[in-house]
Amino acid sequence: MQQIFPENWAFMLFGLIFSITCAQMLVVYVLADSSKPPAGLGLYTVYFMASLLGWIAVTLQQNADMQMAVNVPSVMIILNSYILFMASGQRAGVTRGRMALGGICLLACLCEFFLPPGRMFVVQASVVALFFAGTGLICGWRGWRYRNIGDAIIAYAAAMMTLGMPFAIYYYLMAGERAHGEAITLGVHSAAYALIAIGFLASVVIEYQQHLSNLATMDPLTRLLNRRGLEDALQISRAQAARRGLPTSAIMVDIDHFKQVNDSFGHEVGDHVLRQVADIISRMTRSSDVVARTGGEEFLIILPETELESARLLAERIREAIGQRPLLVDFQRIGVTVSLGVASVVGNVNLDELSLEADRAMYLAKRGGRNRVASVEHRPVHLTTAAG
Ligand code: GH3
Ligand code: MG
Ligand code: MG
Repeated sequence: MQQIFPENWAFMLFGLIFSITCAQMLVVYVLADSSKPPAGLGLYTVYFMASLLGWIAVTLQQNADMQMAVNVPSVMIILNSYILFMASGQRAGVTRGRMALGGICLLACLCEFFLPPGRMFVVQASVVALFFAGTGLICGWRGWRYRNIGDAIIAYAAAMMTLGMPFAIYYYLMAGERAHGEAITLGVHSAAYALIAIGFLASVVIEYQQHLSNLATMDPLTRLLNRRGLEDALQISRAQAARRGLPTSAIMVDIDHFKQVNDSFGHEVGDHVLRQVADIISRMTRSSDVVARTGGEEFLIILPETELESARLLAERIREAIGQRPLLVDFQRIGVTVSLGVASVVGNVNLDELSLEADRAMYLAKRGGRNRVASVEHRPVHLTTAAG
């Protein structure tokens, strides 16, 4: 069998890297054309483009054995690592550390002009490890926060780079094996680069898939659940209530004269009011309670394991919290009150019936003059045999 020479390995590696980058650029180009491009796409595009140039520089240096006055690949590696740090920050909405690391990046690039190659290698590997450590932290946080394995893959690649660079420096300096140190840099870099390309695509696809599944269960304006989301979220607590005969309460909240808010201040301000009311309700409920926007200006709160009286107390507190002082929207003070209906059931929960009861109670509150709480109690009929 014919031997594969080292030069051929290098050729194949660069071929692979080029193909990945070109495919990535194509995907990024299509994504940028969509109506809602993913966060961070701008700087990731810059990163992939700059990487392509960087790999071209490395290929020229390695394959054509070109003598460069300035070590262009080294400068590109430093710049690209910093761009990746900024791209991961843009995607995660984190801007901290940009200026400080930007200054370090500039200094490291300038070092290229007056440091000898050996020292420059140490500077390059150190700042690259630093930038990748920052990227790893940001992507790790984003991956954990949004349950996105794509970001976790980028974080893994960044960790690989951060840990690989000290080894490269060790071999380059201590063991006196320059070629070994450079080989480690190239190897770790190309593996990390392939992982970043995959991680970015995975992150975008997973985010899109999460967005689609949220659309089915979430109200986009208030980010509360919609009716379907409410039913899904209640499956477990409903089964428990039925099995253990526990009480479940519901509070229907309807904003008073909301049409007038829209008419006086405009629909957009109306939307802000809806968001603020939703936030107040969310803040005042427990994590076991389920809050949903079930209509234009109507919210339904389901309180598992809660008696009617406790639900009434909560409804009263929500009414006070919303009505006690005007909401501030775009520097305008808007007085908003709500009418609330409370209903309760023990044991098996028929969600339609329970919300209808709460709705009926809410209309009683409206008829009673608005800005108040009304309640009805719904008790199931327990049938027992003569012997029982
Ligand atoms: P009531 O005290 O009897 O509840 O009076 P109301 O004006 O609140 O009730 P009505 O049902 O007459 O009007 C509800 C208004 O809510 C009408 C509609 O324009 C507005 N609305 C519904 N959905 C939205 C929305 O998503 N955004 C905004 N800004 N307004 C909405
Ligand atoms: Mg209303
Ligand atoms: Mg209404």
